[in-house]
Amino acid sequence: MKEFDTIAAVATSLGESGIAIIRVSGKDSLELVSSIFRGKDNRGLEDIKSYTMRYGHVIDRESSEVIDEVIVSFMKGPKSFTAEDTVEINCHGGVIATNRVLEEVIKAGARLAEPGEFTKRAFLNGRIDLSQAEAVIDIIRAKTELSMKSALAQSEGRISREIKTLRHKLLGIIAHIEATVDYPEEDLEETTSVITSSQLNSVLKEIEKLLSSANEGKILREGLDTVIVGKPNVGKSSLLNALLMETRAIVTDIPGTTRDVIEEYINLDGVPVKIIDTAGIRETQDIVEKIGVEKSKEKINEADLIILMLDLSRELDTEDIEILDYIKDRKYIVLLNKSDLPSKLDRSKLEALKSELIIELSAKTGEGIDKLKDAIKSLFFSGEVSSKDAMITNARHKQALIRAREGCAAAIEALKNTSAIDLASIDARDAWMSLGEITGETLEEDIIDKIFSEFCIGK
Ligand code: GDP
Repeated sequence: MKEFDTIAAVATSLGESGIAIIRVSGKDSLELVSSIFRGKDNRGLEDIKSYTMRYGHVIDRESSEVIDEVIVSFMKGPKSFTAEDTVEINCHGGVIATNRVLEEVIKAGARLAEPGEFTKRAFLNGRIDLSQAEAVIDIIRAKTELSMKSALAQSEGRISREIKTLRHKLLGIIAHIEATVDYPEEDLEETTSVITSSQLNSVLKEIEKLLSSANEGKILREGLDTVIVGKPNVGKSSLLNALLMETRAIVTDIPGTTRDVIEEYINLDGVPVKIIDTAGIRETQDIVEKIGVEKSKEKINEADLIILMLDLSRELDTEDIEILDYIKDRKYIVLLNKSDLPSKLDRSKLEALKSELIIELSAKTGEGIDKLKDAIKSLFFSGEVSSKDAMITNARHKQALIRAREGCAAAIEALKNTSAIDLASIDARDAWMSLGEITGETLEEDIIDKIFSEFCIGK
């Protein structure tokens, strides 16, 4: 069966490196690697103990030629990542060596693993649930230590535990309602309705608490989509450079689009701030400014945070005012740059804006940059940013929680009419199902496949 045959893949990233690891998982993994392994003094792997390593060579089964010098480790299921017998071959890094060893493993009978298949096995074997599996990919992709920490907490099952508790409570509520429907007696409906309403309310509150963390969670996971808009020469590139220099910036290319997009992540005390730029636009420098106000509005519409930069050594003109008017109902910060120069800007034109969101700074001297960072944090995070509480970082989880909230609310509504009490049970069941999608207990197989296909190979 495809689900549980023996699979193999390179688990490290391909390229020049000291070592590479080829991971083999499945019930035949030990036997299979054994058939291409020759240990010191001709020792094989037959008697290898779990959680130990053995030194030797991978050999070509047909020609007996040595392919690479390796160290093999063995993890007997269920105490392994996949919960199956797992063998890891540490071989020399580099594309040629790694691929030759992998090829030999495949020839010996393993199948090349699909992206995410090792993690999927861990899920299918019941070692982790879906939200924990999804956390694995978040750990790999984490942009800052804080996002890594919250993903780690999720992988350890923090969200799963909360969801399980809520589902358990819902199940009790459903059972209570159904018992009342099945054995109708005088007045029982009334009591059930009062009790279950209050229980549903407490579940609803918990769901809302989780949902309230979703905004911060999404930012931690994906970064805060930020655009810096302003006229030519106000100092946008200078600010970006100043920020990149003092924060640990991560630059990622996203290939596949006609014009490659570049995302730069600035690490603001653990909050990844994503500044999007396109390579094409960079090359032709001021093209954005040439297109003017319309292009700025387009960029503004796509962002979570708008940083509008003005030059305080110049007077405001109608275009500036138009943009100011356009952003005032969004999350924005207005920067008055070049605070080291004499001011010519008429502050009364900024009265419609919130004063705490207007920051004077100098991209040249660095003065005021700390204030900018604080403003960003207080705009998006209530209280201190931390990963202490369970945090919803995944859009799929958020959608499921929203549906669960609807289910609970509908059930509470239905309970108001005691003659329709059976309807409440249907709504509560919907909520129970929606929560189960987070942990993967009530999810369709093809959706599960889709989730794992987003992983990288070898994980
Ligand atoms: P952009 O077109 O908005 O990206 O602006 P630049 O960052 O290229 O800056 C335009 C000019 O303003 C450059 O000559 C910068 O050196 C200068 N500049 C930027 N920030 C400051 C500042 O805070 N103070 C002063 N005095 N000059 C600045």
